[in-house]
Amino acid sequence: MRGAAQSNGLRFFPFDNRQEAKTVDEAVVNELAEALRQRQAEIAAERAMNAEARDTVALDQASVGRVSRIDALQGQQMALAQDRNRAAELVQIEAALQRVADGSFGLCVVCDEDIPEKRLRLNPAAATCINCAK
Ligand SMILES: [Zn+2]
Repeated sequence: MRGAAQSNGLRFFPFDNRQEAKTVDEAVVNELAEALRQRQAEIAAERAMNAEARDTVALDQASVGRVSRIDALQGQQMALAQDRNRAAELVQIEAALQRVADGSFGLCVVCDEDIPEKRLRLNPAAATCINCAK
């Protein structure tokens, strides 16, 4: 049972020089950056799929009745609104990945304080701490 004793015993952290380290450590930054890239790809795919819904009305205008045309218009409005939301989210994700690249990820863009890891895990694209988000 030497292995068990080892894994239950003291563990040494080679990266213990956290004096000036940010609250969010490298591994977490990399993990969240990966999540951001995945979300980025997801949104790109969603927008591509959604593109059809955005021009449905123009295509169907001649062939459908008035009521279903109103439905189609509403559907199109929703598709357009969703697309605007996705575009806005993409901008935030790109900005967050930029902060990963320049080393400022995890710092509030307004007050420069650390953004708690919990908040970043909920929204890796969060640019501000909770106080500044108000
Ligand atoms: Zn702040």
